[in-house]
Amino acid sequence: THAKRSSQPFLFYSKEHTRQAQNRFTLDIQLRKAIKKQEFFLHFQPIFSLGKEYPPRIASVEALIRWKTPKGETICPADFIPHAEQSGLIVPIGEWVIAEAFRHLSLLIQSHGQPIGLSINISPRQFRDHHLPLRIAEQLKRNALPPALVTLEITESAVFEHEEQALEILQQLKATGVRISLDDFGVGNSSLFKLKHLPLDELKIDRAFMVDVPESSADTEIVSTIVKTARILGISVVVEGIETQAQLDFLRTTECDCIQGFLLGRPMPIENIQALLKQTQDSSTA
Ligand code: C2E
Ligand code: MG
Ligand code: MG
Ligand code: MG
Repeated sequence: THAKRSSQPFLFYSKEHTRQAQNRFTLDIQLRKAIKKQEFFLHFQPIFSLGKEYPPRIASVEALIRWKTPKGETICPADFIPHAEQSGLIVPIGEWVIAEAFRHLSLLIQSHGQPIGLSINISPRQFRDHHLPLRIAEQLKRNALPPALVTLEITESAVFEHEEQALEILQQLKATGVRISLDDFGVGNSSLFKLKHLPLDELKIDRAFMVDVPESSADTEIVSTIVKTARILGISVVVEGIETQAQLDFLRTTECDCIQGFLLGRPMPIENIQALLKQTQDSSTA
């Protein structure tokens, strides 16, 4: 069949293109239905502050979207967010995420009795949506949330593909009082130098850097250097993708502020976060 394909390249490619276009079209319809029928739900992954206390304390949670289809399958964001981004559907989906996550945070703070932070992922398309700052402000007010508890995670591509526009958008978002984090830092094309000119509060070092830490001395050195540089710029640092105790032990030797990863907590329903918070509170007052 391989030989056949190469002798009819045009036919093969056009068929393949048609199939891809049909798949995109079907996914588009399914996503529109999913918005209407509220088939999305959120998981929350704890983010731990790396202070002196042991075990590390939950400082905040990151909202991560999932899609439960009518067939009962749970689909992870990598399989629909890129498409939603392309079609623009990420804007209504993202507005739902903001409203839902803020509502959960408000309830979580009430039941826990102490402030907890919330991080939300904002895709490049959402970032450029003129209504975003207003939506954020509205939802902060509706849920009576202190803005400083909320962090918007933005990727390098959102910021650096539209650099002139980006500064203005960042300033509008900052005006609502929320924090701004640069997610997946280090795998895109930003430089530490450019960061200096942006109103960023936090850097999230991509988990790709952690995979070979501490075995690879080069990778370990890279992470240390990013942490140090961010601290010099007055930006706090979160390292994601912590899967082993050895990685945690290494990060304790750095000035990294917060960590996140499967070792300490996977994404989970909000009820489990509530239980975790209660557990740590009980053990610290015991
Ligand atoms: P992200 O924001 O960088 O989120 C981290 C992803 O890494 C999550 O995958 C999380 O489950 C996973 N992760 C966390 N700790 C570990 C670890 O120790 N090891 C490994 N191997 N993985 C870990 P998830 O939930 O599948 O999300 C993937 C991406 O989808 C996110 O990357 C984010 O870019 C996007 N995304 C998720 N939720 C939303 C959303 O509500 N809106 C937008 N626009 N994008 C979202
Ligand atoms: Mg994120
Ligand atoms: Mg990330
Ligand atoms: Mg990512």
